[in-house]
Amino acid sequence: MSERIRDFLRERRPDGPCLVVDLEIVRDNYLRFARAMPDSRIHYAVKANPAPEILALLVELGSAFDCASLTEIDLVLAAGVAPADISFGNTIKKERDIAGAFARGVRLFAVDSTVEVDKIARAAPGAGVFCRVLCDNQGAEWPLSRKFGCAPDMAIDVLVHAHRNGLEARGVSFHVGSQQPDPNAWDRALATSSAIFATMAGRGIELTMVNLGGGFPARYLRDVPEVGTYGGAIAASLRRHFGNRLPETIIEPGRGMVGDAGVIKAEVVLISRKHRDDDLRWVYLDIGKFGGLAETADEAIRYPIRTARDRDATAPCVIAGPTCDSLDVLYEKAPYPLPVSLTVGDEILIEGTGAYTSTYASVAFNGFAPLQSYVI
Ligand SMILES: *Cc1c(COP(=O)(O)O)cnc(C)c1O
Repeated sequence: MSERIRDFLRERRPDGPCLVVDLEIVRDNYLRFARAMPDSRIHYAVKANPAPEILALLVELGSAFDCASLTEIDLVLAAGVAPADISFGNTIKKERDIAGAFARGVRLFAVDSTVEVDKIARAAPGAGVFCRVLCDNQGAEWPLSRKFGCAPDMAIDVLVHAHRNGLEARGVSFHVGSQQPDPNAWDRALATSSAIFATMAGRGIELTMVNLGGGFPARYLRDVPEVGTYGGAIAASLRRHFGNRLPETIIEPGRGMVGDAGVIKAEVVLISRKHRDDDLRWVYLDIGKFGGLAETADEAIRYPIRTARDRDATAPCVIAGPTCDSLDVLYEKAPYPLPVSLTVGDEILIEGTGAYTSTYASVAFNGFAPLQSYVI
């Protein structure tokens, strides 16, 4: 955890659970991506954390943005980005939202079906489109699997359809799955992409762009490769599959940009057991799945948890949130080691929580306020 976050928490002593994001870490992460993949345009995936301070910093650093809704588009426009630097990357859009984005100057849209192409052809005539291709998310800790993208042979139909309807068929996109620990995970999707480029060229349509998506990891409990390792592996795959006719590329980091920039401060509300002779402690916090820790679903993301008693002996615990919903258990299948001396009222720090937390918090389930967020 950064010194700045530690100082902020010590001086401000905010009451209740809160997220603190350190902009200096976001800045370092951006510069690391820019160095690791100097030929790729960075489109920050806004959904990971849309805090205005983060967006303003990234605009200042020269980032472009990937948005999933008109509201996100308005957020990044308010931060000062040019509409030409926005992609509307959700493959599921209302036609009136496409028209709204087009009216604001957005010219790049994601599709994975001919129905979506028809909407864009009507609401954003002449705009650029890229087709999302299904991609196996093997190895990813937070897979995005089957919801987005179409099979490669169908992507040909979608892109040809776009071209015939006056749109600019720009290229393809894929997402190798979020929190992807394998830097070689992009290779197969790039082979597929290059095959799509070749087939399209055979039909007289020159594609120019590959959107490499997100997937770059944050560090949770396990070490992950440096972003430079990802850059090297992806550059090698691009050369392998495209030779010296390299396409223009985009990356869309979300988690990798802001995940390790944030820490959540929370409090132990109750420690109890379920039977007289049961050793297993249930530790209830003042934050849970509905307070912003939704990515503990299926215990997929395992956050590092720090306490002031970390030098003491530990024993496995079930960790749960404060709401009256049995879904609100964070870690149970794989109990989490916490200090035996942990006590009601202790403060705990949940690290690596800069991404996919503040906007996942519910409005007021059980009366618990949405996660307070400080960007410093
Ligand atoms: C969520 C998302 C991202 C960001 O993914 P990370 O794994 O957080 O980097 C990028 N692109 C698209 C289209 C997304 O939906």
